[in-house]
Amino acid sequence: MGSPILLKLFEDNPQVATSVFRLIKQQEDLLTVNRAHSQLMAVNHAAGLHPVVVSQPVFDLIRQAKAVSLLADSCFNLTIGPLVKHWKIGFRGHTVPPAAEIQSLLPLTRPEHVILDPQTCSVFLQQPDMEIDLGAIAKGYIADRIRDELHRMGIEHALINLGGNVLAIGAPLYGGNRWAIGLKKPFGSADASIGVIEVIGKSVVTSGIYERYFEVDGKIYHHILDPKTGYPLDNEILSVTVISDNSIDGDIYTTLLYGMGVEKALSYLATIPYIEAIFVTKTGQIILSSQRQFKFTLLDESYHLA
Ligand code: AMP
Ligand code: MG
Repeated sequence: MGSPILLKLFEDNPQVATSVFRLIKQQEDLLTVNRAHSQLMAVNHAAGLHPVVVSQPVFDLIRQAKAVSLLADSCFNLTIGPLVKHWKIGFRGHTVPPAAEIQSLLPLTRPEHVILDPQTCSVFLQQPDMEIDLGAIAKGYIADRIRDELHRMGIEHALINLGGNVLAIGAPLYGGNRWAIGLKKPFGSADASIGVIEVIGKSVVTSGIYERYFEVDGKIYHHILDPKTGYPLDNEILSVTVISDNSIDGDIYTTLLYGMGVEKALSYLATIPYIEAIFVTKTGQIILSSQRQFKFTLLDESYHLA
């Protein structure tokens, strides 16, 4: 997955750990675009040529990603692949591609050109060189599958951390009655936190512009791209953290909310009671949409709670 994976259990149970890591491996074989082969890569390789039959879970995930991409004004786009590959942010990329090259890729990022056939469970990308990229939701999806597997094995207290996608199962067995999850200090050292988010049995997902980026002439180019322009999204937000039951929702909403900007995101969230968010802005503000499912404590004096 290109990120560190942590599984915290309260018992010495190598069997549980083994089956979780096997599950992650299986999911990666379905969904990755960082290797030549996966079910998703088979779809991408056949772009403009023919539909490809995929497994039901992969089909359902692509269907969900397409639906989110087609929401009005959505900045989530499952067909962002050609732009992600071209920028290579976080993977060797450290120069801004020429504007004409970015322009020429935009027509390949039309979600409506992903043709889904539920009868045959097949996916067809209508234009040659189109590419689906599920990087914005795969970790959330996989975290939920791990939770299901742990529940199946009777585990009621655990923590899964897939490179910043944290999913808490139940409460910790000891060391406090809630899980304490650090809110990362943007551009700080690896373990620097600006606050602590306390939850029981919730998903806590963060998307931040400091996760993968490069800098040219003092300007940051990060890994969340604006599908309208082809350039990194540019607004007042440094990071968005979503607290929800399911990690797939957290992963989807961090991208959606990031694209909306704080003001629009807050009024949007007022209509969705089961999703809550924490925004960290470039002016050092921390803004909470509401605080029903978690407790937040500020640790860093250089930030202030709005
Ligand atoms: P996340 O770590 O969940 O914030 O997702 C970031 C990843 O999502 C990037 O590394 C890309 O693979 C992908 N991505 C970038 N921009 C978009 C976008 N506008 N819509 C969907 N996925 C994106
Ligand atoms: Mg995401």
